[in-house]
Amino acid sequence: MENLTDPTSEQTTVLSNAEIADRLASLAQMLSSQKENPYKVKAYRRAAAHIRNLPESLDEMVRREEDLTQFVGIGAAIASAIREIVTTGTLTKLERLRGEASPAIAELSGHPRLDPGRVMRVYKKLNINSVRELRQLMESGQVERVFGNRMAQHIRQGLTETHAMLLYRADDLCQLIQEYLLSACHVSRAEAAGDYRRRVEVIEELVFVIETDDFPHVVERMKRYGGRTPLVGAGVDHASFALSSGILLRLQVAADEDWGFYMATCTGSKAHLKKLVSVTEPLRDLKQEGFTSEKSLYRHFGLQYVEPELREGHDEVERAEAGMLPGLVTAKDIRGELHAHSLSSDGVDSIEDMAEAARERGYEYIGITDHSQSLKIAGGVSVDDLWQQIHYIDKLNGKLRGLRILKSSEVDILADGALDYPDDLLKELDYTVCSIHSRFALDKKVQTERLRRAMDNRYFNILGHATGRLLLKRPGYEFDIERVIDQARQNGCFFEINSSPDRLDLSAENARRAAAAGVMIAVSTDSHSMGELDLVRCGLDQARRAGLQKANVLNSLPWNKLQRLFRR
Ligand SMILES: [Zn+2]
Ligand SMILES: [Zn+2]
Repeated sequence: MENLTDPTSEQTTVLSNAEIADRLASLAQMLSSQKENPYKVKAYRRAAAHIRNLPESLDEMVRREEDLTQFVGIGAAIASAIREIVTTGTLTKLERLRGEASPAIAELSGHPRLDPGRVMRVYKKLNINSVRELRQLMESGQVERVFGNRMAQHIRQGLTETHAMLLYRADDLCQLIQEYLLSACHVSRAEAAGDYRRRVEVIEELVFVIETDDFPHVVERMKRYGGRTPLVGAGVDHASFALSSGILLRLQVAADEDWGFYMATCTGSKAHLKKLVSVTEPLRDLKQEGFTSEKSLYRHFGLQYVEPELREGHDEVERAEAGMLPGLVTAKDIRGELHAHSLSSDGVDSIEDMAEAARERGYEYIGITDHSQSLKIAGGVSVDDLWQQIHYIDKLNGKLRGLRILKSSEVDILADGALDYPDDLLKELDYTVCSIHSRFALDKKVQTERLRRAMDNRYFNILGHATGRLLLKRPGYEFDIERVIDQARQNGCFFEINSSPDRLDLSAENARRAAAAGVMIAVSTDSHSMGELDLVRCGLDQARRAGLQKANVLNSLPWNKLQRLFRR
């Protein structure tokens, strides 16, 4: 049946979702070079990103005249653009804009992630006009010397093809692929393994262990995921594909008898497996024995089961041998939220709505941490307005039952390490989150002293997104993390794991260090809307990778205990 309705002769002419997405991304870039409405530009970019993940072939859907607006981010205008791309191979609007643009701008459409405005500034100042020259000057360090680190980052990313994706984006993709394996490829079992299962924050490859009695059929079907997904390598029991979203997909066939062996080896990490086989037996012998589950594998060698998040080759194998693995923190340990914005600064929901959302999650408290006065671009709250907000929250708390709104602020740490409000105001807050939002480029020593000095203020409680990193966008600013952890320990300050999927800051590695020094860590969302409170799961993933237990996590405490810790 299937083969009859799917003439393979047509397959080569089918546009893949990736090719459609590329054209939409190029259009977004051309529109942005024309200073078009930024929302429109964003809508095209977002649609392009979403389309790359879809299993359904948009090309085939257009030919079958199906409705494309059923997908998130595809409205009537974008649907009609996709129809035009499929039927004509291009977009009149894109071609017209390219024709009108200077040759230098038109050339950029091959690199849709480059911002034309910024690139033109570089071209003008360095007196060049091609991507080839841009690449040379970036590699020689000239772009960074003249324009600084952020511009160099932007250019580097725009010129490098992306082969990585944020973990939370991979969550959606992973689910779509699992469904496709089960329903379209007819595998009887499919489980995600690899970095994804260990909850590594940036993913370059998705790995699935699958059970099937017809692997060639699975490979054929997978080649048609999203219209076309190229096969990049295959053997009798495994295959790799280049997904449209830029990352790889690897399939490994396993049977019921050796499911445990394949789940363990496909989950990794390499460092973990190396330690594991030093107390078990070589991999080839393990393979002979098979094991129907991972649990039976670990048990066979007298080891506690090791949660995937802990399999990084630290000390987990030794601890599993000694029966001393930590009981990792879970979502139900979380009693409240300590970093959330409202309409008062750059959030989109009112304090009341944020409180209601916290109550719906079963929380006991939520701290409202709007930006402080200096952060003007994010609607920083003036001294007078914060006084008013304090009184307002007191009034709300008088009426609320079962939930407490905590009076707080995300206070900027100024260049010299001073906090952005006077002490007599800070004193009225229940606690503070203090963060760096400016002067990222300070010298390492100066930046370290800035943070240490800020912690000397007795109203400093939690250091917000400690390193300022943005995953896949920019590295954190430089400072001596050990010295800052030491200062936090001495002064009774705390860290957070910021759950924003592109921050996850502290990293698991730094959170592990802080916890080892005895410093407690808040798992916070930095929510700017009610829905973002759910992102706590992303922070919990990292907390678990850091080996944190409930006792390490600040917001697992009830407010009365927390209150004592915040008073220095
Ligand atoms: Zn912040
Ligand atoms: Zn914030």
